[in-house]
Parts: sequence; C-alpha cells; structure tokens
Amino acid sequence: MTSDAARAVHARLYRDGALADGRSDRLSLGVSILVEGGRITWIRPADDEGPLPAAGSVDVVDASGSSIVPGMVDAHSHLTMPGGAHWIDRGADPTERLLATAEANARLLTGAGVRWARDVGSVRRPDPDTGSERALAIGVRDRWRGRTGYPHVRAAGTWIMTAGMLPGLSVEARNADELLAAALAQLDDGADLVKLYLDGPDPATCPWTVAEIRRVVDAVHLRGGRVTAHSGYLAGARAGAEAGVGALEHGFELDWDTATTMARNGVRLVSTLCVLASWQTFGITTALPRFASDEGAVRIEARRERALASVAAAHRAGVSIATGTDHGGGSTRANQLAWEVEQLVQAGLEPWEALGCATWRGGELLGEPDAGVIRVGGPADLVLVHGDPLSDPTAMWRAWHSSWAG
Ligand SMILES: [Zn+2]
Repeated sequence: MTSDAARAVHARLYRDGALADGRSDRLSLGVSILVEGGRITWIRPADDEGPLPAAGSVDVVDASGSSIVPGMVDAHSHLTMPGGAHWIDRGADPTERLLATAEANARLLTGAGVRWARDVGSVRRPDPDTGSERALAIGVRDRWRGRTGYPHVRAAGTWIMTAGMLPGLSVEARNADELLAAALAQLDDGADLVKLYLDGPDPATCPWTVAEIRRVVDAVHLRGGRVTAHSGYLAGARAGAEAGVGALEHGFELDWDTATTMARNGVRLVSTLCVLASWQTFGITTALPRFASDEGAVRIEARRERALASVAAAHRAGVSIATGTDHGGGSTRANQLAWEVEQLVQAGLEPWEALGCATWRGGELLGEPDAGVIRVGGPADLVLVHGDPLSDPTAMWRAWHSSWAG
C-alpha cells in the first residue's frame, strides 16, 4: 500500500476471528472488530456486522483461523539489554550499544504482541538528550512515547541494593537511610517505580528489615510512585510481603506463609519462570560450568521446581500474578513472553489464566486499566495469533499481527 493509500484508510476491520481475552476459558468464535482512530468502535458477530464505513475507507484484515488476544504486558523487562548467557556482562556495554539494543527490543516486543513493557532496571549513564546521568530506560520511555510501532513503557530507575551484589550496574545503599535516599533519587530522575533488591550476599538473610522496607514504601507512595522488589530467595520474599511492597519480582522461593501474607497485603507476584527454563537450554548450548556442569544442571532443575511450586502456591493463595520475561536483565530475549505463558501452565494455571497474567493482570499491576484489555471504546491494541491459546498456550508463539505495528 502506498503512503497516500494508507492515509485514506480511516478504519480497519478484523473479520471473523476467534476472541480470547484472558478472562474466561471461553473462546468466542466468528467475531469481527471495527477499529477507528486507534479505538475499538464495535465488536460484533462476523455474520451480522451491520453497516460498515464507506467502502474503500476500511482496511479489512481476514482474521479467520486466528485468535484475537489483547496486546500483552511484559511486566518484567530490561529494555536496554539483549539477554543471552552473558547477560550481566552486557550491562557494561557502551551507552550507544545499549540504546541500539533497546531499539531492536522494541521491534521484537511489537512483533511478539507485547504492547506494554515495564522496565525494572537499567544502568545509569548520561542521557543522550540532557547529558545528565540517570537510568537509561527513563529516557527510552520518554523518547518512545507516542511513536508508532513502539511499546508503551513504564520504567523503574536503576536497581537499588546492598553493596557488592552487582557492582557497576546498581545503586548501592550501605544503610537504611541510604536506601531511602536512593529510592527517592530515582523518583527525582523521573522513574515511575522503584526497584529494591531484597537478596543479599547471604541468601538466607534479607539485607533490610521489614521496617526499613516499609519506610521506603511509604515515602515512595507519598510521592505517587510504586515500589517493587526483586526476590530470588525466601528471606527477602518474607520481608517484602510483610512490608507491603507492590510486587515481588521472580518470587522463586515462596512458601505458603509468604504467599498468604502477599494475598493479605495486596502484594502481587511477577513471575519470570522462563529465565530458569532458558538456563536449562544453556546447559546444552554453552560450555559455561554454571549451566553445563552436572552440578549446575541439578541446581537449576531444583530451583526451577521450587519456582514452579512457588507460583502454584501464590496462585492457590489468591495472589494476583502478572508475568514477564526478564528479558535483558535475565537471560531471555524480548520476544519470548509466550515462553512464560507456557511456563505458567506448567506451574498449574489454566491456559486462560496464564493469558490473563500476560495481559490484564499486568495492566492492573501498572495501574493502567486499558492495558491488556479488549473493550469497545478502548485502545485497539490487538494481537492475532494462529491457533487457540486457551487449549494450546504455544499458540502465543504464533503471533502474526500486532495492530500498533503501523
Ligand atoms: Zn530482572
């Protein structure tokens, strides 16, 4: 289509698809959706569409054989990093390289059907526009706003943690006062949320007390921000759940007590099971002892089993689960959210529930009621996948059309 012809098309009709919205196990067949000005005008039976806008002004997409699902929410992203078996090393790449990686990730996310990316950590570098140093993803968020083909972004600043955990990548706090100051400084830089690390050098000990974490949560809330917490081990999960952080990221070690505390305190879980699944693939594709040695394989399998059980416990306890790939800041890639949907089903969720985690529950986590939702009047963020994700979660790998791609 020429650009002149593209401008002449005011409306797009998705005709005769199946609809799966992640709210129930019901696949609605024979659905047509009319989109005008980027918004959903109506959702009608394909055999009773009624009058259409003037012929020639409607771009008709034959959605037959596809399921229409909401644009997804990758609730755990690291947009400036590429992933892979050396993912942490990549955080030291030159700034221009990290920004180019973010551009590539935007294309991967859009192609995979991800409309929203919640960036939960990027390195501090001079911003290319202002020259002042802050978390790179904050500027990425601002430069992508309103651009066709790019995901919507909500960005944390830089990881805040106790000294020695990720030197050179993180902001380090040596005591509770520094923790609070570092959190508020991220908000000063323009972060939407603050990311605390609740793992310390000793996995059995959370580096911060419940009171110290709660003090940060209260202060950030007063400023209109949100707090989320990295939790790879049980000790940090317990403290974060008690302190009422907005969410625990990963939650690889949750016991029943912690899961029920999360539910009681409204603490969400952002699952990232596909990271551990990807480490298992590195046992085959790399010679790195951490992954490829016998001990490494045993350790990763044990962690993965425990992480699956943790998600199952959170689900049983009624914790709201959003989900993410951890792409970039973990080993996975930006177009792999379908992998996480599969992993959630392995953890015992129904496929429709897993789709809900990757769509509207992510929207709830963000406080964005239109994210991950298909409704008349709402934004037309639609993804067409080949097959039925409600009986076969691998269908999510077969996304072939994202409505915002341009
Ligand atoms: Zn991460």
